[in-house]
Amino acid sequence: MSMSVNPQEETFVFPSGLSIEELAALLPDQPAYRARQAYAWFSRGIADFASMTNLPRPVRDTLSARFHGKVRSSSVAREMEDPDGSLKLQIRLRDGSAVECVLLEDIEGRKTACLSSQVGCPMGCAFCKTGSLGFLRNLGADEIMEQFHFLRERRGAISNVVFMGMGEPMLNLPAVRKAIALLSDPEGIGISLRKITISTSGVVPGILDLAEKGPYVRLAVSLTTADPALRSELMPVNRKWPLDTLKQALLSYQQRTNDRITLEAVIIGNVNASDADALALASWIAPLKVQVNLIAWNPVEGMEYQTPSPAQMRHFRELLESRGIVVVQRMSRGRGVMGACGQLGDTLQTSLP
Ligand code: SF4
Repeated sequence: MSMSVNPQEETFVFPSGLSIEELAALLPDQPAYRARQAYAWFSRGIADFASMTNLPRPVRDTLSARFHGKVRSSSVAREMEDPDGSLKLQIRLRDGSAVECVLLEDIEGRKTACLSSQVGCPMGCAFCKTGSLGFLRNLGADEIMEQFHFLRERRGAISNVVFMGMGEPMLNLPAVRKAIALLSDPEGIGISLRKITISTSGVVPGILDLAEKGPYVRLAVSLTTADPALRSELMPVNRKWPLDTLKQALLSYQQRTNDRITLEAVIIGNVNASDADALALASWIAPLKVQVNLIAWNPVEGMEYQTPSPAQMRHFRELLESRGIVVVQRMSRGRGVMGACGQLGDTLQTSLP
C-alpha cells in the first residue's frame, strides 16, 4: 500500500479509511488477527489509540507512531441542532477546509447520516448553496468515515447513510466506494447496502460505472425538471449529459438492481411549479420505477427564487399521483438536507479561520 507519511497531505489515509488488509500491511510482524482487532476498534470510532485495550502496548505504539498520535484527521468545529431534532456538524478538515454533515431522525426513530463527499461542488446548480461556493477538493474515504463517526458518537447507532451532503459523489467515486465498503462491511459497521444511498445530479459515467461494478446501493437523482432547456439552465450537468442519456443510464442501473430509483425534484415557486412542469415530469418518468421526492426550495440568501406555497406543492403532488407515481413530499428537515444534494444551510462554507 502506498501512503505518504505526512498527515497534512490529502493522500495520507487515517485509520477510519483503512480496510483490514491495509491495517495488516502496517503490522507486518504481527499475526493477522491483530489487524482485525485494530479494525474493530477503528470501526467503533475510537478517538485515541489508548482505547484499544485488547492490543498489546507495542502494537498500539506502532499504530500511534504511524499516525503521528492522531486517530482522526478532522475535528468538529461547530454543532447545530435544528428545532426538528436534526443535528448538523461543521467539520474542520486537516487543511483548514470545511464540510458539513447532518444526522436526521424520523418519527420511527430511524437515524440517517447525510455525508459530504467533496469540499464545495463543481456542478454549479443554480438553486444550490453548495454550488455557489465552488469546488475545492475531493474528500478521502477517511474524511467521509470520520463524519459518520462524529455523528454516531453524538446520537448513537445509525441505520441509514445518504451521500447527499456537499458535493457530487459520482465525481469522487473511488473514495465514496471505499467508504461504502467500510460502512457495509459485516466485520465492521455492517450497514446494509440497501440502506445506503448515493445522490447524484446526473453524472452519467458514474451511474454506468456503478451499474457495471457496484456496489448496488440505492440511487437518487436530482432531476428537478423534465424540461431540457430549463434543466440546462438550472443544472449545468444537463448540458453534458442530457435527459435522454440520463434516462438510459438509469434504466441500466435499474436493470441491475431492480430497485426503485428516487428522483428528487426541488420545486421553485416561480420556475418549475406549473401544471405543465408536473405533467412533463410524469411522462418523462414513465419507463422507470421510481419514487419522486418533492422538496420545496429553501431560501438561500442572494437567490431570487421563490419558495412554493403549500397549496402549490400539494397540487403538484396530486398531479403526479394522478399519473400513478409514488410521491413523498419532503419537509424541510435539517433545512432540507434530505431533499437533494447540497441543500445545506446558511452556515455552509468551504474553509474555516
Ligand atoms: S445540487 Fe448537488 S450537484 Fe448541484 S451544486 Fe448542489 S451539491 Fe452540487
